[in-house]
Order: sequence, then C-alpha cells, then structure tokens
Amino acid sequence: MTQFVIPQEQWAQVVEKSGGLPAPVYKKIPVPNPDPDEVLINIKYSGVCHTDLHALKGDWPLDRKMPLVGGHEGAGIVVAKGSLVTDIEIGDHAGIKWLNGSCLSCAFCMEGDEPLCPHALLSGYTVDGTFQQYAIGKAAHVARLPKDLDLAAVAPVLCAGITVYKGLKESNTRAGQYVAIVGAGGGLGSLALQYAKAIGLHTIAIDGGAEKGKFCKSLGAAAYVDFTTSKDLVAEVKAATPGGLGPHAVILLAVQEGPFQQATEYVRSHGAVVCIGMPAGAYLKAPVFDTVVRMINIKGSYVGNRLDTYEAIEFFRQGLIQAPFKIAPLSELPEIFKKMDAGTIVGRYVVDTNMLRG
Ligand code: NAD
Ligand code: ZN
Repeated sequence: MTQFVIPQEQWAQVVEKSGGLPAPVYKKIPVPNPDPDEVLINIKYSGVCHTDLHALKGDWPLDRKMPLVGGHEGAGIVVAKGSLVTDIEIGDHAGIKWLNGSCLSCAFCMEGDEPLCPHALLSGYTVDGTFQQYAIGKAAHVARLPKDLDLAAVAPVLCAGITVYKGLKESNTRAGQYVAIVGAGGGLGSLALQYAKAIGLHTIAIDGGAEKGKFCKSLGAAAYVDFTTSKDLVAEVKAATPGGLGPHAVILLAVQEGPFQQATEYVRSHGAVVCIGMPAGAYLKAPVFDTVVRMINIKGSYVGNRLDTYEAIEFFRQGLIQAPFKIAPLSELPEIFKKMDAGTIVGRYVVDTNMLRG
C-alpha cells in the first residue's frame, strides 16, 4: 500500500470574519486528522462556486462555522483514513462535495434525499472545505474518482456538475425538448449546457454580454438571449422554441431575483421552473391564475445524492462534459471572488493548491 508523508501544517484560505466582502486570509494552519468514519484527502484542485461567495458574505439564513475554510469542489488523493473505512484505499482519487456527510439513517437519507438530512454536514460551510491542501470528508459521501480522470477538470463536476445534472432530472424533460438555462455563462451554467446537450435537450442560454454569448454558443447553446440588452426577454426566449410555445423547462442559476419572477412568463404550459441559484434575500412571485391554468410546476433543486454524484461523474468520464475552466493559484482566491462578485467570470475558476505564490 502506498504511504504518504503528511505534513503537520498546510496552506489554506481562511475566512476570519463575516459581513461585506472580507478577503479570506492565506495562511498556514494545522493538517486535520480523520475520525474513524472519515478520510483525509490531499486536495490538488478545487473549483470556486458562487456558493463560496454567498458563504463569505453571509448571504443566507443558515449559520456557518467561523473561522471557516471554504470550498466544496475539491479533487485529490486519499492520504489517510479512519479505522472504520474499508471501501476506500490510501492512494485512491476522491472528491469532496457540498454534502460532506449525512446520517444515512433518517427518513430522507433512506429515500435517497441525502441533501435533506437534518444532520447534513456542509463542506466549506458547517465544516472546513477544500480551499486548503488537506481536507476531511465522511467516507460514505466522498466522490469516488476513477484514476484516469484529470483532477482539475473534474473538480467543477463535484458541485456544479452534480447540481445541474440533478436539476435537469428534476425538470422531467426528455431528449428533443427545450430547456432555458438562466445564468448559462457562469460556472453552473456552463456545465448545465453540456449536461443538457449530452441528454439530448436543446438549450436556450440566458446571460449578459457578448463574451458570455460566444462562450454559450461554443458549448452547444441553440440560442443566446442577452438580459442586459434584450428589449423583450420573454418574447425572445419563446421565439427560440418551436411554435413560440416556450421552453419545456427553465433551470434558474442566476444570482439576481429578477429572472426568478420572469421564468414563469416564458415557460411552456405544463413546464417546470427549477430554482437552483440562491440570490440573497430573494423571493419567488408568480400569478396564481397563470400557474393554475397553465399548469406550471415551480420547484427547488438542491445539489444531489450519492447516485447523482456517480452518474454526473460518469457523464464526465465518458467525455461528454467538456466545459472550459481557468486555473489559478490558491493564493489568488480573493481576486477570483472580486471578479465573481462583479459577474465577469466566464465559466469556472479552479484553484491549484500546489501553485504557491512567493
Ligand atoms: P456564477 O457567478 O459562476 O454564475 C452566475 C451567472 O448568472 C453569471 O454568469 C451571471 O452573469 C448570471 N446572471 C446574473 N444575473 C442574471 C440575470 N438577471 N439573468 C441571467 N443571468 C444572470 O455562479 P455559479 O457558481 O454558477 O452559481 C450560481 C448560483 O447557484 C449561486 O447562487 C449558487 O449559490 C447557486 N448554487 C446552488 C446549488 C444548489 O444546490 N441549489 C448548488 C451550487 C450553486
Ligand atoms: Zn457549489
């Protein structure tokens, strides 16, 4: 069995205070030890999700750990494991996702609704996450990564990929139908375009600016609607579908409230509006009359369970998911958050924990 030399200390990005847009502090902290049911993963790459920015700013009515190491799209190598872990070996490749652990015995876990477990542990939120070189994951929940997968490229699949794949499942669409992806030029959006295409869906990408338009088209979008310039977004989205009937589903990934209200106006009758993005303090509002007589299905979708994780990774392994991403050193995380806050990131950033500055 391979043995790894585990250092006492490691580099990490630590959020030390909440409110506003505080920069996480890049510093050395101790390497944690796994409990009997946990593994220690040497994180090589971690995707940077907008959820990490929400956590940094304290956007949501959900308490988080403080000080906090954020991050929940971490891919790396298992370097240590607890005494109860029998189905993962040291040296295996594995990923840490948002759902770090769940009890596996409550009514929700038994149904496969693990993200709804009242005892769920959330990586980079209620437990330290992947913006560090060594992170802990509950063995039952870490994603198993075949060794031939590129660890940088698979990192965004661990949240963005799983989440949009699950959202598409929840939309109950099937091959040949139309789906609007709102926020298509962002991290989740770029993967949603790829998963939708792999499933055989036609996509209408909605986002802002010409660069994101070009990017969405390159990922297979059949049409692009620019929310920053469109005079009538509802009409444009409908016009991009056969007969102008509107898309069979809308996958909402935007980080503003506005599009959440608009989606029910252009979704096709009997279609689904799937809410995934979580703008701070946002509410959903839709006319009851239209919702009833057009039989509109409005629902939420929250990450995915262990089977969704396996399936999302399997699409990637088969070469069907090729969303481009940018790599930056872990030390540059604060700059990435600033760009994300300004909405200027096209696709996903992945931080490399070994590319150290200075
Ligand atoms: P991102 O910043 O990479 O992308 C967001 C995109 O939305 C950007 O491209 C931005 O230009 C676009 N946008 C903003 N306003 C818009 C508008 N009015 N119309 C259309 N597009 C608009 O963010 P991300 O990492 O893709 O995350 C997106 C959201 O999904 C965040 O709120 C995040 O917390 C949430 N999320 C939810 C889950 C879940 O399980 N439900 C999982 C992961 C992330
Ligand atoms: Zn995420």
